[in-house]
Amino acid sequence: MSHISFYPGPSRVYSNTTEFIYEAYASGILFANHRSETFMNLMAKAKKVLHEKLKIPSNYEVAFVSSATECWEIISQSLVKETITIAYNGAFGRKWAGYASGISPNTHEVEFGIEEELPVDKIVDHPSEVVGIVHNETSNGSYISDQSMKDLRTKVGSETIIAVDATSSMAGIKLDWDLADFWFASVQKCFGLPAGMAVVIISPRAVEKAYAIGNHKPYNSLMRIVENSKKNQTHYTPNILNIYLMYRTQIMSKGIDHQHSKTLRRLANWTALIDQLHDINWLIKHEALRSPTVLTLRVKNSEELKKIAFEKGLILGNGYGDWKESTIRIANFPALKGKEIEKLAKFLKRYHF
Ligand SMILES: *Cc1c(COP(=O)(O)O)cnc(C)c1O
Repeated sequence: MSHISFYPGPSRVYSNTTEFIYEAYASGILFANHRSETFMNLMAKAKKVLHEKLKIPSNYEVAFVSSATECWEIISQSLVKETITIAYNGAFGRKWAGYASGISPNTHEVEFGIEEELPVDKIVDHPSEVVGIVHNETSNGSYISDQSMKDLRTKVGSETIIAVDATSSMAGIKLDWDLADFWFASVQKCFGLPAGMAVVIISPRAVEKAYAIGNHKPYNSLMRIVENSKKNQTHYTPNILNIYLMYRTQIMSKGIDHQHSKTLRRLANWTALIDQLHDINWLIKHEALRSPTVLTLRVKNSEELKKIAFEKGLILGNGYGDWKESTIRIANFPALKGKEIEKLAKFLKRYHF
């Protein structure tokens, strides 16, 4: 491989991917019709392995769509009759709110600061059918604490659907599935797969809500997604190769408890290093609100640092939006190898001690 990418998506893809791509080709699955037995077998196995490895409750449905961006629209089209609240503190959440208000005029936005906990009371003050949050804001490396996730579930009404964009945390950090109803993630972040697919995890309550609303018009109506997924099919010709790669990489995975501790162990090492370095600091001071999977660091001269890193075979992530110039981002995703991380750590030490 030419360069090691620490970009927080698309990021490093698991190194056995080439082998699995070859295997997929040889098995004939790539030209199987998506209503055939061959495909349905793969779909059943992929859903089963995700349930097992990510410890998803058996009554939650798993489905595949094209992207997290698509999910933002699915939510407003299928789960919202009148009101949705999106709470955000960064660029991905803001984009989500933008698309949501294009569909539901009653989209309520709650903006909060990167050093603040999720403003649960403010969210709850404005009753909504759906509350949408970004678990791990990839643009600025902020994170919703476990306590806020619990508070939100306790304080919103039992009728309210909680939707969580977990694109850059799912499969890297353990999620408490009971705390929300519609979880989604694109696969080019912690899943370590090529871009072009997203995983959706849906509670029985969200399925009920979709049926109560009954919007069949969009091609990606949640009812249609769930009906097909229950039959081990998809509502359109899917990314079969990526479903295959998902199945194979998850079979190899040691499971979410292992990935979770690996992520936290690596984060602790990064924290110990960064705290020693000069001219390189966390964007987010409040440690509990710092993302474990997307390190966002204030640096002087980010352009130069990225350029020198690139010459050493390392790709650092650009800052995003308001922090484009002043920060760099470093993925702490499971597919990165220990020795690759060591190489970057050594590089940063050399330039910042
Ligand atoms: C990467 C990312 C997205 C967008 O993913 P797409 O695959 O481009 O749709 C959405 N939300 C978050 C939090 C992300 O990190």
